[in-house]
Amino acid sequence: MPEGPEIRRAADKISKVLIGEEIIESNFYYERIKEKEEIVKNQNIKDITTRGKAMLIRFKNNWSMYSHNQLYGRWTVNLNTTKVKSRRALRVVFTTNKHAVRLWSATDIDLIPTDEENEHSFLKKIGPDVLSESCSLDLIEERLTSTSFHKKKASTLMLDQAFFAGLGNYLRSEILFDAKIHPDDRPFDLDKTKITQWAKSIKNISQLAYKTGGFTVSKSLADRNKENGEPRRSYRHAVFMRHQYECLNCKDRIERKWYGKRKVDYCPSCQIQRGKIKPTK
Ligand SMILES: [Zn+2]
Repeated sequence: MPEGPEIRRAADKISKVLIGEEIIESNFYYERIKEKEEIVKNQNIKDITTRGKAMLIRFKNNWSMYSHNQLYGRWTVNLNTTKVKSRRALRVVFTTNKHAVRLWSATDIDLIPTDEENEHSFLKKIGPDVLSESCSLDLIEERLTSTSFHKKKASTLMLDQAFFAGLGNYLRSEILFDAKIHPDDRPFDLDKTKITQWAKSIKNISQLAYKTGGFTVSKSLADRNKENGEPRRSYRHAVFMRHQYECLNCKDRIERKWYGKRKVDYCPSCQIQRGKIKPTK
């Protein structure tokens, strides 16, 4: 599933061809927003931003298009002369003199006045975006140790969009490994040094994934994993999807735990449990 870094890269990609360009045509094909099409018809775009896994396209007339790609939505950029064939359902097209930007398959799309973005049912519930510059290490530490969150398990917190927006399944495993935190530990169980490390890992691993397009290890480590015959889904990471492989740190075997239907891959030796809670079976 695309997580915050992937959505931000999609926003960068479409920003490059839309911002500062004249929108010569815009069309909405999705029933739920069709009737609002006129509001932003052929309006130029002021900026494009993301909040966690949601994207906001802001038009010059102070309306915003909210979209959340869930598991299946996808943005594409083509020259406007290119004929595009797809079996996906087309939702939105923005055409400039040079490019056509299309949103496919997404079902969570809305048009809202820009100054009411924070009232949107999804946006009002989510916490700070980990990739936002205003999301400082101090803020992350503060939230980790706040009474609202400090007794929740790491495995829960790392997916809780109300805690921080933009984290998802692969980032969860990778952040906890980087910080050497057991998925069943809670901030409450950890000392100040561990909390500081955790905050740094949340920020650093998310930024790394954003910069590299989903890699959470260095290029040289990824190359080494690849040379050892690992598939792409695992060589990009330190632990996620590497549960049958050796830990890059200590050579122990990476293990997998399930929380509901979602997995956490972790190293039992590097991520020793500190809290008293019984591990989840
Ligand atoms: Zn290890």
